[in-house]
Amino acid sequence: MSPTDATSTLPTGAPTGLLIDGTWTTAARQLRVEDPATLATLAEVGDAEVADGLAAVDAAYAAFDPWAHRPARERAEVLRRAFEIMTDEIEDCARLIVLENGKAWADAIGEARYAAEFFRWFAEEAVRVAGGFREAPAGDKMIITDHTPIGVAYLITPWNFPAAMATRKLAPALAAGCTAVLKPAAQTPLTALWVGEVLRRAGAPNGTVNIVTTSDPGSVSEAILADERVRTLSFTGSTPVGKVLLEQTAKRVLVSSMELGGNAPFLVLEGADVDAAVEGAMLAKMRNGGAACTAANRFYVHASLVGDFTARFREALASLKVGPGIDRGNDLGAMVSTHERDKILELLGQAEDDGGRPDAISATPDGGAFVAPHLVHDVTHGSTLTRTEVFGPVAPIVTFEDTDDAVRMANDTEFGLMAYVYGPDKGTGIAVARRMDAGMVGIDRGLLSDAAAPFGGMKESGLGREGGFHGIHEFLETRYLGVSL
Ligand code: NAP
Repeated sequence: MSPTDATSTLPTGAPTGLLIDGTWTTAARQLRVEDPATLATLAEVGDAEVADGLAAVDAAYAAFDPWAHRPARERAEVLRRAFEIMTDEIEDCARLIVLENGKAWADAIGEARYAAEFFRWFAEEAVRVAGGFREAPAGDKMIITDHTPIGVAYLITPWNFPAAMATRKLAPALAAGCTAVLKPAAQTPLTALWVGEVLRRAGAPNGTVNIVTTSDPGSVSEAILADERVRTLSFTGSTPVGKVLLEQTAKRVLVSSMELGGNAPFLVLEGADVDAAVEGAMLAKMRNGGAACTAANRFYVHASLVGDFTARFREALASLKVGPGIDRGNDLGAMVSTHERDKILELLGQAEDDGGRPDAISATPDGGAFVAPHLVHDVTHGSTLTRTEVFGPVAPIVTFEDTDDAVRMANDTEFGLMAYVYGPDKGTGIAVARRMDAGMVGIDRGLLSDAAAPFGGMKESGLGREGGFHGIHEFLETRYLGVSL
C-alpha cells in the first residue's frame, strides 16, 4: 500500500446520513461523492428530498424555544466543547476536506483550524450580546434596546471551504440562540456532516443542528424558504445563485445574509518591496489553489516593477509541487471537479484569444482534476480574465503607470469583496486601501481571514458580515422597549 492509499480512507465513523433531530437518518436516495484527485468514488451520502428538508425544519422549529431560552453561558459551553473536540481531531477534519475538495494538506489543516476558531470566537461572543439603555432626547421615556434570536436559520454553504463556511454560520446562529438547517454543497458534504457530529458530541440538543445534503438544492431550498417557520437565510456561494435566493426571500421579507463572489485586485504600487509583494501574492493567489472568494484574481503592477515582480513570482510558483493533497509533500492539490478544471482551462483559452500570453509554470499529474499554476502576461484591463472570477491557480498581470489609474481599474467591477495593496510605505498603502470599493483590504498582507474580523463584501459581493462582533447580529433581532418617565 502506498502512503497515499494508507490515508485515502475516510476517518472512522465519518457520518454519511442526514442529521435530523439529533439522529443520523438514511435517505431513500444516495448522492455520490468523488475524490477529485483520483476521480474515484469516495462515499455515498444521503440525497435529501423536499420532505427531508421540511422534516429538518420541523426539528429546528421544535428545538428553537428551549434553545433560545437556555442561558447564554450554557450555549457558549456547547460551542467551546465543539472547539475542543474539533481541535483534538483536527487531522480527521483536514483529511475529509482534502479527500472531497482536493486541496493541499497544508491548506486543509489551515482551513480546519480557521473553522474551529469560529466555535471558540462565538462561544466568547454568546455571553457578550449587549443591549442599550438611555433617556430619549425629549425626556419623556427611557429607550431600552435588547436583542432576541431571530428563529430557525437556513444556512447554505459552498464547496471551497467545506468546514469553515459551515462553522462561520453554525457557530453564530447557535450562539445567538437560533436553531439551524444546514445545506452543504453536494460536492463536499462529508466535512459538514462531520462538523454536525462534532456539535452533537459537544452537547447541542436534538434539533438545534440539522444537516441535509441533496442533489436537488433548488427544490429543497425553495420549500424550506417558503416555510413560514424559517426566519433567516445565510448563504455563501456565487452571485447568480445568491440573486435567485434573494428573489425567494423577498417574497417572505426574510432577513438574508449573502457572502457572494469576488474579483479581488492585487496592487503593487511604485516603490513596493517586491519580495514582500511576491510572498503576499503566493498566499493571496495560491491558497486553496486559487479557489477562494478572496483570491487575488488580477494583478496590477507598476511598470517599474513588473519585470522583477513577474520573474520572482514565476520562480515562487515553479517551486510548488502539484499532486494529490493527501500527500503532504504537495503544495497544490486538485480542483474540486473536472468541471471546475475545464472552466479554468477554458478561461485560459479565452485569455489567449484576448491577446494575453498564458504561461504554464509546471506539468500536472495524470488522472485527477489538476490545473498547473499559470501566469498570464500582457493582460489588458477589461478582458475576460479581469472580469471573471477564475477560482483557480491563474495569475493575470496588468501593467500600470499611474496610481489613480490602478485604483480606477481595481474598482471597475461589480464585485467588492477583497483587495490587496502593496505600497512603498504603510501610509501610502492605507491611503490607497481606503479608496478601494471592497469590504476587506489587505495592506502588505496576502491573507486576512480571521474569526475575530468582519468578513463580507460591498456591491454584488454580498450583504451583511460574518465573524467579528457583527456575525452574531446576523442571527439577532433588535427590540426597542419605550418606558414612560
Ligand atoms: P454556488 O454554485 O452558488 O453554490 C453554493 C451553494 O448553493 C451550494 O450549496 C449549492 O448546492 C447551492 N445552490 C446552488 N443552486 C441553488 C439553488 N437554486 N437554490 C439553493 N441553493 C443552491 O457556488 P459554488 O460554486 O459552490 O462556490 C463558489 C462561489 O462561492 C464563488 O463565487 C465564490 O466566490 C463564492 N464564495 C463566497 C464566499 C464569501 O464569503 N463571499 C466564500 C466562499 C465562496 P450544490 O452544491 O448542490 O450546487
